[in-house]
Amino acid sequence: MGDSTDSDSTETTTEERVTITLTDYPVPVAEDDRETGLEALEDAISQLLDVNIAPADITARVGHHYVQIGDDCPRCGGTLELREYTYCDNGAVAEANCAHAPDCEWRGRAIYRMIDLESGPVTDVESTVANGDMTPSYYSY
Ligand SMILES: [Zn+2]
Repeated sequence: MGDSTDSDSTETTTEERVTITLTDYPVPVAEDDRETGLEALEDAISQLLDVNIAPADITARVGHHYVQIGDDCPRCGGTLELREYTYCDNGAVAEANCAHAPDCEWRGRAIYRMIDLESGPVTDVESTVANGDMTPSYYSY
């Protein structure tokens, strides 16, 4: 078992992705009108761009969203074992080791950040982000 972080292709990305944020964009309240409006926005962006991009590759959503990855090993797809959490800043860091040792020896760190504060009974939780009491910040990787 190695004791260092791997330096392999999982640390780089070839994804071409652009995120556009429209603040104070007039979103229709009625769900049908909202869907139609968002599809029109996607079509307009597709037509505006001078590149070959399909409307299906453009996604418009309303409100704040969070990102999440699975607990699968980035090398072999096996399950990661997470342990030894250290709380820091706005979250925690945990050791992440592939459970398929010794066939796969991927090791790294799982990064946790607070993404929401919920209150209320488990059956009816209220999100402080979804209800607008807290505004999330966005950072690049
Ligand atoms: Zn693995």
